[in-house]
Amino acid sequence: MMKYAQSVEMAYYGFVFSDINFHSITERELTMKCFRCNNALNKTSEDAAHFYSCSSCNAHYRLDEHTGLCDRWRMPLSLVLYGVIFDKNPETKAVAIAADFKARDDLDLANIVNDIKAELKSPRQKVSSILNFEYLNEDKLRLFLKLFVNEYESCNH
Ligand SMILES: [Zn+2]
Repeated sequence: MMKYAQSVEMAYYGFVFSDINFHSITERELTMKCFRCNNALNKTSEDAAHFYSCSSCNAHYRLDEHTGLCDRWRMPLSLVLYGVIFDKNPETKAVAIAADFKARDDLDLANIVNDIKAELKSPRQKVSSILNFEYLNEDKLRLFLKLFVNEYESCNH
């Protein structure tokens, strides 16, 4: 089981790590595509920060020098993940955070849930790179997102 998970992870992220060894960030920028619509990304920062956006679907990204491209703060996943930024066991808070989100009327929750489902169905990034988590655990954060979606959907039928 572990072996399978590791090989899947290498398939998703292997090219990112090999790129770091042989190319500068500037060279990598030329080939970066939007996770959501495959459009070429535009750099949106003039300073040392590596922020990018998609002119087609308006998604915003940040290039992490260690783990590659990931969603920028304020993208849908980041809003949900923010609730567990200090949690060692984020999966235990999924029900409570889903309830918090359902109580809000300032967010497009259906859009957020659809974006999470797309990420879970075919992983596009290290979700543990999106924010500065106190406890870095990719598997637990993905489990939290899965339970968040389950909770949302169970209350909407
Ligand atoms: Zn796009």
